[in-house]
Amino acid sequence: MSESPGRASSRPGLSLFCEVTVSERVLEFEEALAEVLRHAGAVAKPAREQEPIALKDALGRVLAEPVRTERDQPPFARSTRDGFAVRSADIAEKQPLRIMGLVRAGEVWRGSPVRDCEAVEIMTGAPMPNGADAVLMVEHTEIATDGLLRVLGGRTLQPGENVVPRGAEARAGVEVIPAGRRVGPAEIALAASCGYAQLEVFDRAKVAIVATGDELVGLDTKPEPWQIYNSNSYALKAMVTEAGGLGGRLEIARDRREDLIDRIAQGSMWDLLILSGGVSMGKYDLVEEVLREYGAEFFFTGAWIQPGKPIVFGKLPKHGIVGHRLDAPWTGEWTYFFGLPGNPVSTEVCFRLFVAPLLRGLCGQSEIAPRFVEALLAEDVKGSMRVTRFLPAVLEGDWKQVSVRVVPWQGSGDLAANARANAFVVLPSGIEQFHAGESVRVLLR
Ligand code: AMP
Ligand code: MG
Repeated sequence: MSESPGRASSRPGLSLFCEVTVSERVLEFEEALAEVLRHAGAVAKPAREQEPIALKDALGRVLAEPVRTERDQPPFARSTRDGFAVRSADIAEKQPLRIMGLVRAGEVWRGSPVRDCEAVEIMTGAPMPNGADAVLMVEHTEIATDGLLRVLGGRTLQPGENVVPRGAEARAGVEVIPAGRRVGPAEIALAASCGYAQLEVFDRAKVAIVATGDELVGLDTKPEPWQIYNSNSYALKAMVTEAGGLGGRLEIARDRREDLIDRIAQGSMWDLLILSGGVSMGKYDLVEEVLREYGAEFFFTGAWIQPGKPIVFGKLPKHGIVGHRLDAPWTGEWTYFFGLPGNPVSTEVCFRLFVAPLLRGLCGQSEIAPRFVEALLAEDVKGSMRVTRFLPAVLEGDWKQVSVRVVPWQGSGDLAANARANAFVVLPSGIEQFHAGESVRVLLR
């Protein structure tokens, strides 16, 4: 039987906790993010399983193969205006022009090429008639009673004006969307314009979600006054879906070693395991200990952020499951895990900052880092000398000026305040006071 690395003994037992040397590694926010991005970048490269999917169902999936043009784009020189196809040089010198006929989108001009002092009426999206090199906008013309076309207000026309030449957007056969791109509406539009009815996409990473806590009940249970609903599993599953993964909620783990071992063993067979709760300093916060006992390797055991400081990140040996026993054989593979603090706002902040980038990497995506925008603080806010703060906030204003206002809250358990926010304002550590009007970073939801 292969023995997993880091396992001091194959037999579990509480006494084992004493044998494990605990090395804490609490990182600054930037370091923790860099650590996650390093792993996310590395897992994005290996070949993943892929499957074909109908274009209409491809939103949110990640391309396993690039999209290439079928033909030159546009496939013909295209008028971008309703007006008249003409020889641009004529406009300055040779008016009025004779109108030879009309060409509309979906047709091709079958008359003779446009010559001096001639014009062909043309609609947006129609192919240019031979001989013409520009399109005069209909708004800039008038047709006199003699039926001849005149240009208004002494306008001139440049060669190529209001025309997109054949192949100007892309030549036939070139890559227009690289593999690794998440498919959004723009990618769907482009793929459709290249004739793709289906795309090759990566399989989604499968994410096991485990909520831990004696106080938690499922939504099918009426809670006692001292119990609370397990909201984190639902929030995590939603965020997993949003990041491009496939989430599965495992049974709640009680704050007992046996339960945690069982869920960790199950979770180790998935692509990623997310645990919520049980990573703080409380007497029943056993997650980190049990992970260590299980042979986990930790990349960090905390980050100087608020909320979310107790977050842990590492990898677990995958054990073949034999009735969920700890001494089942090691498969030789690893599964990444995160242990997130259970307070729901901490859970969300940690997911957006750290879990989502890794998950995007596991899904084969090439753009993995969280995205921040800049906005002006609407009011003064207290920072912290030690931690980088991520506070629920409302990004508001119009297109000229965007400001951000921190939402009043009761701390990182306040889901009502969290739901009034549409972003998180970032207050870097080492600054005691941020002032109204200052420019700050904002993490979008
Ligand atoms: P913990 O991180 O386990 O110390 O939990 C911190 C706080 O988050 C406690 O008030 C818990 O009751 C709460 N909490 C933990 N897990 C969940 C969950 N799955 N859903 C909602 N709240 C939770
Ligand atoms: Mg707990």
